[in-house]
Amino acid sequence: FHAIGHPALILNAERTILAANQAVSKLIGKPSSEIVGRPCFEVFHDPGGEGPPPDCPVGRLSAGAGLQTGEMEMRTLGGVFLVSCTPVLDSQGRLQKIIHIATDITQRRSAEKALRESEERYRELVERQSEGIGIVDSEERFLFANPAADDIFGVPAGTLTGRTLAEFTDPEEMDLIRKKTDERKAGRRDYYELWIRRPGGEKRLLLVSAVPRTGPDGGYTGAFGVFRDVTDMRRAQTERARLELQLRQTQKMEAIGHLAGGIAHDFNNLLTVINGFSDLLLVRIPPDGPHRREIAEIRKAGESAAALTSQLLGFCRSRPTETRAMNPAKTLSAMQGMLRRLIVDPVDLRIAADPACGEILGDPASFEQVVVNLALNARDAMPAGGRLTVELSPVVLDEAFVRNHFGARRGPHVRLAVEDTGIGMTEETRLRIFEPFFTTKKEGKGTGLGLFVVYGVVRQFGGTVWVSSEPRKGTRFELFFPVAEGPERAEDREAEASEEGFSGVKVLLVEDEDPVRQVVRSMLESLGLEVLEAASADEATQVGKRYGGAVQVLLTDIVMPGRNGYQAAEEISRAHPGIRVVFMSGYADVDPESSCGPGTGRQFLRKPFTRSQLARKLRDALTL
Ligand code: ADP
Ligand code: MG
Repeated sequence: FHAIGHPALILNAERTILAANQAVSKLIGKPSSEIVGRPCFEVFHDPGGEGPPPDCPVGRLSAGAGLQTGEMEMRTLGGVFLVSCTPVLDSQGRLQKIIHIATDITQRRSAEKALRESEERYRELVERQSEGIGIVDSEERFLFANPAADDIFGVPAGTLTGRTLAEFTDPEEMDLIRKKTDERKAGRRDYYELWIRRPGGEKRLLLVSAVPRTGPDGGYTGAFGVFRDVTDMRRAQTERARLELQLRQTQKMEAIGHLAGGIAHDFNNLLTVINGFSDLLLVRIPPDGPHRREIAEIRKAGESAAALTSQLLGFCRSRPTETRAMNPAKTLSAMQGMLRRLIVDPVDLRIAADPACGEILGDPASFEQVVVNLALNARDAMPAGGRLTVELSPVVLDEAFVRNHFGARRGPHVRLAVEDTGIGMTEETRLRIFEPFFTTKKEGKGTGLGLFVVYGVVRQFGGTVWVSSEPRKGTRFELFFPVAEGPERAEDREAEASEEGFSGVKVLLVEDEDPVRQVVRSMLESLGLEVLEAASADEATQVGKRYGGAVQVLLTDIVMPGRNGYQAAEEISRAHPGIRVVFMSGYADVDPESSCGPGTGRQFLRKPFTRSQLARKLRDALTL
């Protein structure tokens, strides 16, 4: 009894300690005589307590029960013990004594507790994780899957386990899976993307990280995988990349526009001189006079040059010179005959204009030009014939559309769709088609200005243009024009101004470039006006001081070295409030619309201009 290494007691049936071995004395640090005769529970469990603890195995030693064990905390011994109580019975089978041996299991218990806590932690880590976590065997069958994995695969909770990856992947993805499995067998681990198909058919993109799992012999037994559903993220990325591309395209066109506008402006000044003097000569030389034919040719070439620069300038202007509401459906209908002459067999032309289309703000002639340019391109794209559809319909652009289409605005629009079944174009071509002088056509065939003009006009209308095309699959252009707000219809100013009736009118002409000033002076004089000249704003105010009251019209360039035309006009009109002002400029970005026009006593004339355009503006200025 004393030699037993574990603390051992002999109790009577009432749990009074009859003997305690040396291990007990050692443990409690008292000789056994001090505890013999006292109830065991009082000594070991609960000094001063009521009675034995409810889970005491001694309590179970009633009527004939054999050995009883139980785990108990012994407060006085400071630990948890496995208690085994062996009954000692008399010849009638009555409980005489109890041999009570306790084994210290404190360490085992705390190890178990630590294990349980650790298990709990790992379980939470895996189960609460938003990343899918799974274990597959060498056949890609799930041995384990966390709740996020069930979610990602779109199956009810707990049902991914037992299913194979092959059930969720299209056959073409299996190659990738096999390749990755082989790599893992070779001990490699990496990230890869995998498309899966949920039971409902929806495809999702997973970013997978898998590491090999090996058996005790080191052989490959499958993989531990962590995966994330990146479908939405990827979509957002593609979206952003697309918008960035759209932004870059817009910026490119802006830059090109500035460049073209700069050149066109200088050109326009030259053309003002060339065309102006040609006009004058043509007025002066009698119909059968010498060199009349040659001069007419110069004038004609100048006309074409002016048309070209006005195309370039048209692009650069952010607002049309003549802003008015137009009915695109009517315009398109009126163009039918012309289009049908342009687009002939073997191209089948279909035109549909929904009369419900609202009015849009812009110049009808520009709109026609857009339709013609697009139709001609479509025709060129279908040398062997095909179908060309020109369609006008009302649409409302919503938030979603605007988010995906850089530069588009919300609200009611008119959509012009021009679609062909022609040769289409490559992505590379598509990104460049709006550039001026970009053409894929044979020399002499294409100018590369058609779509440049389309782009510029669309911008003037405040709209956007989109292209979808694939080689051999045809092309579809979609143009969106914002519907004009309110009924602000500019009155038609068609009445041709007469060139008569300017005699005696005094005009102050301000222009810094000598040749331009000369030609404009000649035009004014040929119309019968009396001309005073100034080469700068300062000079103009001087002349204004001297002649002010006598001058009816101030005709001034806007952009000049030193003070500009606006400032000159300000000063002179302050001194002479009745004076009428006509501004002229070749700059595309000069935007005088806000301060000029009917009712303001101010007019704007874009260079280069003809003698009769000048006459019309002067007439407008004088009558309003
Ligand atoms: P051009 O017609 O003088 O070549 P554009 O500016 O009108 O100039 O067009 C530029 C280029 O865009 C064309 O050369 C062609 O490559 C391409 N393109 C335009 N419209 C179409 C279309 N409907 N189908 C295929 N390619 C087109
Ligand atoms: Mg073209």
